[in-house]
Amino acid sequence: MSTQTEPKLVTQIDFARAGQITPQMKEVAEREHRDPEYIRERVADGRIAIPANIVHIKKGMRAFGVGEGLSTKVNVNLGISGDKADAAEEWKKVKIAEDFGADAIMDLSNSGKTRQFRQQLIDETPLMVGTVPMYDAIGYMKKPLVKLTKDDLFEVVRAHAEDGVDFMTIHCGINKSVTKTFKETGRLMNIVSRGGSLLFGWMEVTGNENPFYEYFDELLEICHEYDVTISLGDSCRPGCLYDSNDATETAEMIELGKLCKRAWAAGVQVMVEGPGHMALDEIAANMKLQKRLCHNAPFYVLGPLVTDIGVGYDHITAAIGGAISASSGADFLCYVTPAEHLCLPNAQDVLDGLMATKIAAHAADIAKKVPHARDMDDKMGQARRKLDWDAMWKCALDPVTGKKRYEESPAATEGTCTMCGKMCAVRTVNKVFEGTTIDLGMED
Ligand code: SF4
Repeated sequence: MSTQTEPKLVTQIDFARAGQITPQMKEVAEREHRDPEYIRERVADGRIAIPANIVHIKKGMRAFGVGEGLSTKVNVNLGISGDKADAAEEWKKVKIAEDFGADAIMDLSNSGKTRQFRQQLIDETPLMVGTVPMYDAIGYMKKPLVKLTKDDLFEVVRAHAEDGVDFMTIHCGINKSVTKTFKETGRLMNIVSRGGSLLFGWMEVTGNENPFYEYFDELLEICHEYDVTISLGDSCRPGCLYDSNDATETAEMIELGKLCKRAWAAGVQVMVEGPGHMALDEIAANMKLQKRLCHNAPFYVLGPLVTDIGVGYDHITAAIGGAISASSGADFLCYVTPAEHLCLPNAQDVLDGLMATKIAAHAADIAKKVPHARDMDDKMGQARRKLDWDAMWKCALDPVTGKKRYEESPAATEGTCTMCGKMCAVRTVNKVFEGTTIDLGMED
Protein backbone atom coordinates (compact mmCIF):
# COMPACT_ATOMS: atom_id res chain seq x y z
CA MET A 1 0.00 0.00 0.00
CA SER A 2 1.37 3.43 -0.94
CA THR A 3 2.05 5.80 1.96
CA GLN A 4 2.41 8.81 -0.35
CA THR A 5 -0.45 11.31 -0.30
CA GLU A 6 -1.60 12.71 -3.61
CA PRO A 7 -0.99 16.48 -3.97
CA LYS A 8 -4.20 18.44 -3.46
CA LEU A 9 -5.64 19.79 -6.67
CA VAL A 10 -6.71 23.40 -6.11
CA THR A 11 -6.02 25.55 -9.14
CA GLN A 12 -7.25 25.30 -12.70
CA ILE A 13 -3.71 24.46 -13.77
CA ASP A 14 -3.52 21.65 -11.15
CA PHE A 15 -6.69 20.06 -12.52
CA ALA A 16 -5.65 20.58 -16.13
CA ARG A 17 -2.33 18.87 -15.57
CA ALA A 18 -4.08 15.98 -13.85
CA GLY A 19 -6.13 15.59 -17.04
CA GLN A 20 -9.34 16.84 -15.42
CA ILE A 21 -11.75 19.27 -17.08
CA THR A 22 -13.29 21.62 -14.53
CA PRO A 23 -16.73 23.27 -14.82
CA GLN A 24 -14.86 26.53 -15.48
CA MET A 25 -12.96 24.99 -18.41
CA LYS A 26 -16.28 23.69 -19.78
CA GLU A 27 -17.89 27.11 -19.43
CA VAL A 28 -14.98 28.78 -21.24
CA ALA A 29 -15.08 26.13 -23.98
CA GLU A 30 -18.80 26.65 -24.54
CA ARG A 31 -18.58 30.43 -24.75
CA GLU A 32 -15.53 30.36 -27.00
CA HIS A 33 -16.85 27.63 -29.35
CA ARG A 34 -13.90 25.40 -28.48
CA ASP A 35 -13.57 21.81 -27.39
CA PRO A 36 -13.10 21.47 -23.59
CA GLU A 37 -9.92 19.48 -24.25
CA TYR A 38 -8.54 22.41 -26.27
CA ILE A 39 -8.97 24.58 -23.17
CA ARG A 40 -7.61 21.98 -20.73
CA GLU A 41 -4.47 21.42 -22.78
CA ARG A 42 -3.65 25.15 -22.85
CA VAL A 43 -4.47 25.75 -19.19
CA ALA A 44 -2.08 22.88 -18.38
CA ASP A 45 0.85 24.49 -20.16
CA GLY A 46 -0.04 28.08 -19.25
CA ARG A 47 -1.09 29.37 -22.67
CA ILE A 48 -4.58 30.01 -21.25
CA ALA A 49 -5.38 31.33 -17.78
CA ILE A 50 -8.83 31.15 -16.18
CA PRO A 51 -8.62 33.70 -13.37
CA ALA A 52 -11.23 32.38 -10.93
CA ASN A 53 -10.56 32.53 -7.19
CA ILE A 54 -12.19 29.60 -5.40
CA VAL A 55 -13.97 32.11 -3.12
CA HIS A 56 -15.42 34.03 -6.09
CA ILE A 57 -16.47 30.79 -7.81
CA LYS A 58 -18.60 29.98 -4.75
CA LYS A 59 -20.25 33.38 -5.15
CA GLY A 60 -21.34 32.55 -8.69
CA MET A 61 -18.77 34.23 -10.91
CA ARG A 62 -18.66 33.47 -14.62
CA ALA A 63 -15.49 31.78 -15.91
CA PHE A 64 -13.43 33.68 -18.48
CA GLY A 65 -10.49 32.29 -20.41
CA VAL A 66 -7.58 34.55 -21.31
CA GLY A 67 -5.06 33.38 -23.87
CA GLU A 68 -4.30 31.56 -27.07
CA GLY A 69 -7.14 31.02 -29.52
CA LEU A 70 -9.72 32.81 -27.35
CA SER A 71 -11.54 36.10 -27.78
CA THR A 72 -9.66 39.15 -26.52
CA LYS A 73 -10.83 40.13 -23.05
CA VAL A 74 -11.39 43.71 -21.88
CA ASN A 75 -10.82 45.21 -18.43
CA VAL A 76 -12.29 48.31 -16.81
CA ASN A 77 -10.39 50.06 -14.00
CA LEU A 78 -12.23 51.82 -11.21
CA GLY A 79 -12.08 52.23 -7.44
CA ILE A 80 -12.22 54.76 -4.66
CA SER A 81 -9.20 57.01 -4.47
CA GLY A 82 -7.84 59.43 -1.90
CA ASP A 83 -8.65 62.55 -3.91
CA LYS A 84 -12.14 61.49 -5.02
CA ALA A 85 -13.68 58.87 -2.75
CA ASP A 86 -17.19 58.77 -4.24
CA ALA A 87 -18.33 55.17 -3.86
CA ALA A 88 -21.71 55.87 -5.56
CA GLU A 89 -19.93 57.08 -8.72
CA GLU A 90 -17.75 53.95 -8.70
CA TRP A 91 -20.84 51.71 -8.48
CA LYS A 92 -22.23 53.50 -11.57
CA LYS A 93 -19.01 52.49 -13.34
CA VAL A 94 -19.44 48.86 -12.21
CA LYS A 95 -22.92 48.83 -13.78
CA ILE A 96 -21.56 50.27 -17.05
CA ALA A 97 -18.81 47.64 -17.11
CA GLU A 98 -21.35 44.85 -16.65
CA ASP A 99 -23.98 46.24 -19.05
CA PHE A 100 -21.60 47.08 -21.88
CA GLY A 101 -19.62 43.87 -22.04
CA ALA A 102 -16.44 44.19 -19.96
CA ASP A 103 -14.93 40.85 -18.93
CA ALA A 104 -13.04 42.12 -15.89
CA ILE A 105 -13.06 44.93 -13.37
CA MET A 106 -9.86 46.01 -11.69
CA ASP A 107 -10.53 47.60 -8.32
CA LEU A 108 -7.72 50.11 -7.92
CA SER A 109 -9.07 51.56 -4.65
CA ASN A 110 -6.28 53.06 -2.61
CA SER A 111 -7.88 55.02 0.18
CA GLY A 112 -10.84 54.86 2.57
CA LYS A 113 -12.98 51.76 3.00
CA THR A 114 -11.15 49.74 0.36
CA ARG A 115 -11.84 46.32 1.85
CA GLN A 116 -15.56 46.97 2.16
CA PHE A 117 -15.70 48.15 -1.48
CA ARG A 118 -13.68 45.14 -2.68
CA GLN A 119 -15.73 42.58 -0.78
CA GLN A 120 -19.01 44.05 -2.02
CA LEU A 121 -17.68 44.07 -5.58
CA ILE A 122 -16.72 40.39 -5.36
CA ASP A 123 -20.09 39.55 -3.80
CA GLU A 124 -22.01 41.29 -6.56
CA THR A 125 -20.18 41.05 -9.87
CA PRO A 126 -19.91 37.89 -11.97
CA LEU A 127 -16.98 39.43 -13.89
CA MET A 128 -13.33 38.68 -13.11
CA VAL A 129 -12.04 40.96 -10.36
CA GLY A 130 -8.44 42.11 -10.28
CA THR A 131 -6.54 44.28 -7.81
CA VAL A 132 -3.10 45.75 -7.22
CA PRO A 133 -2.37 44.99 -3.54
CA MET A 134 0.52 47.47 -3.52
CA TYR A 135 -1.96 50.35 -4.04
CA ASP A 136 -3.88 49.25 -1.00
CA ALA A 137 -0.86 48.53 1.25
CA ILE A 138 -0.24 52.00 2.67
CA GLY A 139 -3.89 52.55 3.62
CA TYR A 140 -4.47 48.98 4.80
CA MET A 141 -1.41 48.85 7.06
CA LYS A 142 -1.75 52.55 8.04
CA LYS A 143 1.99 53.04 7.59
CA PRO A 144 4.14 55.23 5.35
CA LEU A 145 5.62 53.43 2.34
CA VAL A 146 9.16 53.07 3.66
CA LYS A 147 7.96 51.59 6.96
CA LEU A 148 6.15 48.75 5.21
CA THR A 149 7.81 45.38 5.75
CA LYS A 150 7.77 42.30 3.59
CA ASP A 151 5.31 40.74 6.07
CA ASP A 152 3.02 43.77 5.77
CA LEU A 153 2.96 43.48 1.99
CA PHE A 154 2.24 39.76 2.08
CA GLU A 155 -0.53 40.31 4.62
CA VAL A 156 -2.26 42.62 2.15
CA VAL A 157 -1.89 40.03 -0.62
CA ARG A 158 -3.40 37.38 1.66
CA ALA A 159 -6.33 39.66 2.55
CA HIS A 160 -7.09 40.22 -1.15
CA ALA A 161 -6.84 36.47 -1.83
CA GLU A 162 -9.17 35.65 1.07
CA ASP A 163 -11.69 38.19 -0.21
CA GLY A 164 -11.87 36.34 -3.54
CA VAL A 165 -9.77 38.45 -5.93
CA ASP A 166 -9.32 36.51 -9.18
CA PHE A 167 -6.11 38.09 -10.42
CA MET A 168 -3.60 40.39 -8.78
CA THR A 169 -1.11 42.65 -10.46
CA ILE A 170 2.11 42.19 -8.54
CA HIS A 171 5.30 43.87 -9.69
CA CYS A 172 7.64 40.95 -9.05
CA GLY A 173 10.00 41.58 -11.94
CA ILE A 174 11.54 44.88 -10.88
CA ASN A 175 14.55 43.54 -9.01
CA LYS A 176 17.95 45.04 -8.27
CA SER A 177 19.32 43.87 -11.60
CA VAL A 178 16.52 45.61 -13.54
CA THR A 179 16.84 48.83 -11.52
CA LYS A 180 20.59 48.79 -12.23
CA THR A 181 19.84 48.63 -15.96
CA PHE A 182 17.30 51.43 -15.55
CA LYS A 183 19.75 53.70 -13.72
CA GLU A 184 22.63 52.94 -16.10
CA THR A 185 20.72 53.37 -19.36
CA GLY A 186 18.27 56.11 -18.33
CA ARG A 187 14.84 56.92 -19.71
CA LEU A 188 12.87 59.98 -20.72
CA MET A 189 9.83 59.18 -18.55
CA ASN A 190 11.54 57.00 -15.91
CA ILE A 191 9.01 54.65 -14.23
CA VAL A 192 5.32 55.41 -14.85
CA SER A 193 3.72 52.32 -13.30
CA ARG A 194 2.17 53.33 -9.97
CA GLY A 195 2.95 50.01 -8.25
CA GLY A 196 6.37 49.88 -9.89
CA SER A 197 7.25 53.38 -8.73
CA LEU A 198 6.21 52.55 -5.14
CA LEU A 199 8.38 49.43 -5.13
CA PHE A 200 11.29 51.26 -6.75
CA GLY A 201 11.03 53.97 -4.07
CA TRP A 202 10.84 51.35 -1.32
CA MET A 203 13.87 49.49 -2.69
CA GLU A 204 15.94 52.65 -3.07
CA VAL A 205 15.18 53.93 0.43
CA THR A 206 15.49 50.61 2.30
CA GLY A 207 18.31 49.21 0.15
CA ASN A 208 16.46 45.88 0.09
CA GLU A 209 15.57 43.60 -2.79
CA ASN A 210 11.96 43.71 -4.04
CA PRO A 211 10.20 41.40 -1.54
CA PHE A 212 7.81 40.10 -4.20
CA TYR A 213 10.88 38.95 -6.15
CA GLU A 214 12.95 37.77 -3.19
CA TYR A 215 10.11 35.80 -1.59
CA PHE A 216 8.33 34.86 -4.80
CA ASP A 217 7.85 31.25 -3.68
CA GLU A 218 5.99 32.43 -0.58
CA LEU A 219 3.78 34.60 -2.77
CA LEU A 220 3.05 31.58 -4.95
CA GLU A 221 1.88 29.61 -1.91
CA ILE A 222 -0.78 32.24 -1.13
CA CYS A 223 -1.87 32.39 -4.77
CA HIS A 224 -2.07 28.61 -5.01
CA GLU A 225 -4.23 28.34 -1.89
CA TYR A 226 -7.01 30.44 -3.49
CA ASP A 227 -6.21 30.02 -7.19
CA VAL A 228 -5.29 33.65 -7.62
CA THR A 229 -3.80 34.25 -11.06
CA ILE A 230 -0.67 36.39 -10.80
CA SER A 231 -0.63 39.16 -13.33
CA LEU A 232 3.08 39.94 -13.43
CA GLY A 233 3.17 43.74 -13.44
CA ASP A 234 5.37 45.63 -15.86
CA SER A 235 6.89 48.29 -13.63
CA CYS A 236 9.09 49.42 -16.48
CA ARG A 237 6.50 49.76 -19.20
CA PRO A 238 7.32 52.69 -21.45
CA GLY A 239 5.53 55.89 -20.43
CA CYS A 240 6.27 57.57 -23.77
CA LEU A 241 7.21 56.57 -27.30
CA TYR A 242 10.84 57.49 -26.64
CA ASP A 243 11.23 54.74 -23.99
CA SER A 244 9.52 51.86 -25.82
CA ASN A 245 11.40 48.62 -26.36
CA ASP A 246 14.40 49.97 -24.47
CA ALA A 247 16.88 48.05 -22.33
CA THR A 248 14.90 48.56 -19.11
CA GLU A 249 11.61 47.28 -20.52
CA THR A 250 13.36 44.29 -22.06
CA ALA A 251 15.40 43.51 -18.93
CA GLU A 252 12.21 43.33 -16.88
CA MET A 253 10.46 41.20 -19.50
CA ILE A 254 13.30 38.66 -19.29
CA GLU A 255 12.78 38.46 -15.50
CA LEU A 256 9.03 38.07 -15.97
CA GLY A 257 9.63 35.14 -18.30
CA LYS A 258 11.68 33.37 -15.63
CA LEU A 259 8.98 34.02 -13.03
CA CYS A 260 6.30 32.55 -15.33
CA LYS A 261 8.07 29.21 -15.28
CA ARG A 262 8.40 29.25 -11.50
CA ALA A 263 4.71 30.07 -11.06
CA TRP A 264 3.58 27.28 -13.37
CA ALA A 265 5.88 24.83 -11.57
CA ALA A 266 4.08 25.78 -8.34
CA GLY A 267 0.64 25.26 -9.92
CA VAL A 268 -0.15 28.98 -10.15
CA GLN A 269 -1.73 30.58 -13.21
CA VAL A 270 0.05 33.56 -14.74
CA MET A 271 -0.52 36.49 -17.06
CA VAL A 272 2.13 39.03 -18.04
CA GLU A 273 1.48 42.76 -18.35
CA GLY A 274 2.77 44.96 -21.13
CA PRO A 275 3.08 48.45 -22.53
CA GLY A 276 2.27 51.36 -22.31
CA HIS A 277 3.24 53.79 -25.05
CA MET A 278 4.68 52.48 -28.33
CA ALA A 279 4.90 53.56 -31.96
CA LEU A 280 2.58 51.67 -34.27
CA ASP A 281 5.37 49.95 -36.19
CA GLU A 282 6.97 48.51 -33.03
CA ILE A 283 3.89 46.86 -31.53
CA ALA A 284 3.76 43.55 -33.41
CA ALA A 285 7.43 42.80 -32.68
CA ASN A 286 6.95 43.61 -28.99
CA MET A 287 4.01 41.18 -28.75
CA LYS A 288 6.05 38.43 -30.38
CA LEU A 289 9.04 39.09 -28.13
CA GLN A 290 6.86 38.90 -25.02
CA LYS A 291 5.32 35.62 -26.13
CA ARG A 292 8.80 34.25 -26.81
CA LEU A 293 10.42 35.44 -23.57
CA CYS A 294 7.40 34.59 -21.42
CA HIS A 295 6.81 31.16 -22.93
CA ASN A 296 3.42 32.01 -24.47
CA ALA A 297 1.86 33.18 -21.20
CA PRO A 298 -1.28 35.29 -21.79
CA PHE A 299 -0.35 38.91 -22.44
CA TYR A 300 -2.36 41.68 -20.75
CA VAL A 301 -1.74 45.01 -22.41
CA LEU A 302 -2.54 48.65 -21.69
CA GLY A 303 -3.08 50.17 -25.12
CA PRO A 304 -0.35 50.68 -26.19
CA LEU A 305 -0.91 54.38 -26.86
CA VAL A 306 0.48 55.03 -30.32
CA THR A 307 1.17 58.73 -29.82
CA ASP A 308 1.90 60.84 -26.74
CA ILE A 309 0.00 63.94 -27.84
CA GLY A 310 -3.61 62.74 -28.03
CA VAL A 311 -4.44 64.34 -24.68
CA GLY A 312 -8.17 64.12 -24.00
CA TYR A 313 -8.55 61.42 -26.68
CA ASP A 314 -6.32 58.70 -25.30
CA HIS A 315 -9.12 56.13 -25.52
CA ILE A 316 -8.59 56.49 -29.29
CA THR A 317 -4.77 56.39 -29.24
CA ALA A 318 -5.01 53.28 -27.03
CA ALA A 319 -7.68 51.59 -29.15
CA ILE A 320 -5.52 51.96 -32.27
CA GLY A 321 -2.62 50.32 -30.42
CA GLY A 322 -4.97 47.80 -28.80
CA ALA A 323 -6.25 46.58 -32.17
CA ILE A 324 -2.68 46.11 -33.42
CA SER A 325 -1.48 44.47 -30.19
CA ALA A 326 -4.42 42.09 -29.91
CA SER A 327 -4.23 41.10 -33.59
CA SER A 328 -0.49 40.45 -33.04
CA GLY A 329 -0.96 38.19 -30.02
CA ALA A 330 -2.11 40.17 -26.96
CA ASP A 331 -4.93 38.37 -25.15
CA PHE A 332 -6.37 40.93 -22.75
CA LEU A 333 -6.73 44.70 -23.14
CA CYS A 334 -6.95 47.14 -20.26
CA TYR A 335 -9.19 50.01 -21.25
CA VAL A 336 -7.97 53.57 -21.44
CA THR A 337 -10.41 56.47 -21.05
CA PRO A 338 -10.42 60.04 -22.42
CA ALA A 339 -9.37 61.11 -18.89
CA GLU A 340 -6.05 59.23 -19.11
CA HIS A 341 -3.12 61.38 -17.91
CA LEU A 342 -5.62 64.04 -16.76
CA CYS A 343 -7.95 63.01 -13.93
CA LEU A 344 -10.03 60.22 -12.44
CA PRO A 345 -12.51 59.18 -15.17
CA ASN A 346 -16.21 59.86 -14.67
CA ALA A 347 -18.98 57.45 -15.70
CA GLN A 348 -19.16 58.80 -19.29
CA ASP A 349 -15.37 58.44 -19.62
CA VAL A 350 -15.71 54.83 -18.50
CA LEU A 351 -18.32 54.12 -21.17
CA ASP A 352 -16.27 55.85 -23.88
CA GLY A 353 -13.10 54.03 -22.84
CA LEU A 354 -14.82 50.66 -22.60
CA MET A 355 -16.44 50.97 -26.03
CA ALA A 356 -13.21 52.09 -27.71
CA THR A 357 -11.40 49.10 -26.19
CA LYS A 358 -14.22 46.68 -27.02
CA ILE A 359 -14.07 47.81 -30.66
CA ALA A 360 -10.28 47.28 -30.71
CA ALA A 361 -10.63 43.81 -29.17
CA HIS A 362 -13.44 42.82 -31.52
CA ALA A 363 -11.60 44.08 -34.61
CA ALA A 364 -8.57 42.05 -33.55
CA ASP A 365 -10.67 38.92 -32.95
CA ILE A 366 -11.97 39.10 -36.52
CA ALA A 367 -8.39 39.42 -37.82
CA LYS A 368 -7.24 36.54 -35.55
CA LYS A 369 -10.06 34.35 -36.87
CA VAL A 370 -11.43 33.68 -33.40
CA PRO A 371 -14.32 31.25 -33.97
CA HIS A 372 -17.60 33.06 -34.76
CA ALA A 373 -16.01 36.47 -34.12
CA ARG A 374 -17.53 37.92 -37.32
CA ASP A 375 -21.04 36.51 -36.91
CA MET A 376 -22.58 39.73 -35.60
CA ASP A 377 -20.86 41.82 -38.27
CA ASP A 378 -22.41 39.65 -40.97
CA LYS A 379 -25.82 39.91 -39.28
CA MET A 380 -25.37 43.68 -39.12
CA GLY A 381 -24.69 43.71 -42.88
CA GLN A 382 -27.95 41.83 -43.48
CA ALA A 383 -29.90 44.14 -41.16
CA ARG A 384 -28.48 47.22 -42.88
CA ARG A 385 -29.31 45.85 -46.32
CA LYS A 386 -32.92 45.40 -45.20
CA LEU A 387 -32.90 48.79 -43.42
CA ASP A 388 -34.13 46.83 -40.38
CA TRP A 389 -33.20 49.20 -37.59
CA ASP A 390 -34.42 47.00 -34.71
CA ALA A 391 -32.23 44.17 -35.97
CA MET A 392 -29.30 46.63 -36.18
CA TRP A 393 -29.59 47.53 -32.49
CA LYS A 394 -29.43 43.81 -31.63
CA CYS A 395 -26.09 43.52 -33.44
CA ALA A 396 -24.51 46.72 -32.10
CA LEU A 397 -21.77 46.66 -29.45
CA ASP A 398 -23.55 49.64 -27.86
CA PRO A 399 -27.22 49.50 -28.88
CA VAL A 400 -28.22 52.26 -26.47
CA THR A 401 -26.11 55.03 -28.02
CA GLY A 402 -26.89 53.96 -31.59
CA LYS A 403 -30.67 53.90 -31.08
CA LYS A 404 -30.62 57.21 -29.21
CA ARG A 405 -28.76 59.01 -32.01
CA TYR A 406 -31.08 57.55 -34.65
CA GLU A 407 -34.23 58.57 -32.81
CA GLU A 408 -32.96 62.07 -32.10
CA SER A 409 -33.01 62.80 -35.83
CA PRO A 410 -36.18 61.34 -37.40
CA ALA A 411 -35.96 60.72 -41.15
CA ALA A 412 -38.67 62.06 -43.48
CA THR A 413 -38.45 59.02 -45.77
CA GLU A 414 -39.45 55.77 -44.15
CA GLY A 415 -36.68 53.27 -43.50
CA THR A 416 -33.85 55.71 -44.16
CA CYS A 417 -31.90 58.02 -41.86
CA THR A 418 -31.25 61.73 -42.15
CA MET A 419 -27.76 61.19 -43.56
CA CYS A 420 -29.04 60.73 -47.14
CA GLY A 421 -32.82 60.65 -46.71
CA LYS A 422 -34.51 59.90 -50.03
CA MET A 423 -31.09 59.40 -51.63
CA CYS A 424 -30.45 56.42 -49.34
CA ALA A 425 -28.23 54.14 -51.42
CA VAL A 426 -29.54 51.02 -49.73
CA ARG A 427 -33.17 51.99 -50.44
CA THR A 428 -32.42 52.86 -54.06
CA VAL A 429 -30.69 49.56 -54.83
CA ASN A 430 -33.35 47.59 -52.94
CA LYS A 431 -35.96 49.27 -55.14
CA VAL A 432 -34.02 48.37 -58.30
CA PHE A 433 -33.91 44.71 -57.29
CA GLU A 434 -37.57 44.75 -56.22
CA GLY A 435 -38.49 46.21 -59.61
CA THR A 436 -40.28 49.15 -57.96
CA THR A 437 -40.21 52.72 -59.18
CA ILE A 438 -37.23 54.78 -58.24
CA ASP A 439 -38.92 57.99 -57.26
CA LEU A 440 -35.88 60.22 -56.77
CA GLY A 441 -36.50 63.85 -57.77
CA MET A 442 -40.13 63.18 -58.73
CA GLU A 443 -41.94 64.06 -55.51
CA ASP A 444 -40.92 67.62 -54.68
S1 SF4 B 1 -29.77 57.11 -45.51
FE1 SF4 B 1 -27.62 56.87 -46.07
S2 SF4 B 1 -26.57 56.52 -44.11
FE2 SF4 B 1 -28.74 56.24 -43.73
S3 SF4 B 1 -29.12 54.08 -44.01
FE3 SF4 B 1 -29.47 54.97 -46.02
S4 SF4 B 1 -27.47 54.87 -47.06
FE4 SF4 B 1 -27.09 54.51 -44.88
